[in-house]
Amino acid sequence: MPLTAYSISHPGELDVEQTLHRLSARFGQPYTSVGAIPEAWRAYLRDDLQCPSCFVTGAEVVRSATKMGNASRQAFFRFTTPGHRPHCDFGSPETANTVPENLVSLTESKSNLTRAVRALVCTGIEQGVFSQRSIRDMREWFFNTKVESLFVVELDPRLYPWLTALQNNASLSTGALPAGVLLTPEIAAWPQFDWRAEAARRVMERYPQYEANMKVIRDQRIFIFGPAGKRAEALTQRFQGRSVFDPTVLSDEYDKTCALANFISRNYAPLKAAKADSGTASVLAFSALLLFIRGWDVGKAISNFVKIVAAVGSANQDLGNVMGLNPFHDYEAWKILKQLQSLNIAVPENTDIEAERRVMEGALRKQFGASPMPI
Ligand SMILES: [Zn+2]
Repeated sequence: MPLTAYSISHPGELDVEQTLHRLSARFGQPYTSVGAIPEAWRAYLRDDLQCPSCFVTGAEVVRSATKMGNASRQAFFRFTTPGHRPHCDFGSPETANTVPENLVSLTESKSNLTRAVRALVCTGIEQGVFSQRSIRDMREWFFNTKVESLFVVELDPRLYPWLTALQNNASLSTGALPAGVLLTPEIAAWPQFDWRAEAARRVMERYPQYEANMKVIRDQRIFIFGPAGKRAEALTQRFQGRSVFDPTVLSDEYDKTCALANFISRNYAPLKAAKADSGTASVLAFSALLLFIRGWDVGKAISNFVKIVAAVGSANQDLGNVMGLNPFHDYEAWKILKQLQSLNIAVPENTDIEAERRVMEGALRKQFGASPMPI
């Protein structure tokens, strides 16, 4: 449920309180509580407010819930008639009362970093570089891009632990007999012979496709074993069978946004002091906005940035009551998921490689009369 909505008549993002104050001025009528809104106001809101993600109208105001006299939930907007469009960030019960992860609220300025980005956004609006309207248009562009490029998550989530286990097993096989060399009783009698390495090597022989798959994964620079890979694994499980946004259609925009985010993080003292980089959501959102309004031209975006920095400091901070969009939230993880899915790697029934190696080592030791496997 969105906490803010976009007003068409007064272009900007407003929460429930701000909306009602504005309506009170417009209709020349005071209001007492969210529960006592005149029907004329409600009718006006149904036409004037848009969902911040999918831009449907039909807003209704839902009062804040109170628990033991304290407000436990902020008043929010609901869009039930005609309802959110499919794939709206606010459309599923999962996202009720939460801010979708790709939306960046700049209204709370508790941190130096958020304050610095907010000051840049307010100055940008005051200088006419962009407007509340362009921020809204960027979100609409992203929503349309998203619904036009969906794919269904069908990747087997067991692929990640399986490849990780094979990778571990491959490293254990270091020091095994070279391929093609027979294990003779003489070699087996050697007290230091590494049975675990030999077993690991034999297990690897059962998965000849592993090396070929890993070569493709390395060549395509799919970083499945890093933190983004872990995140991709979680997304694969969570969104299994569901259609999701294909992030690879925005790879050009993503690269440019990261380059700009890094540039302004290093060259603008307040962001440098706050240790911002291309992984900082608010800086990515701001960089994407600068690029979006200049047709994704990095040079033009930087000249706008310079113009904003030269004027920063005096802008009305209320201009920054906006919901920025970071279209690249979890971008790396989604990219890994999509790339891995495109490889169509078949995962076998049994993926417990460690158990397989232990069985193999026990059998080898027995076959050659070596001491049993240490526990
Ligand atoms: Zn919506």
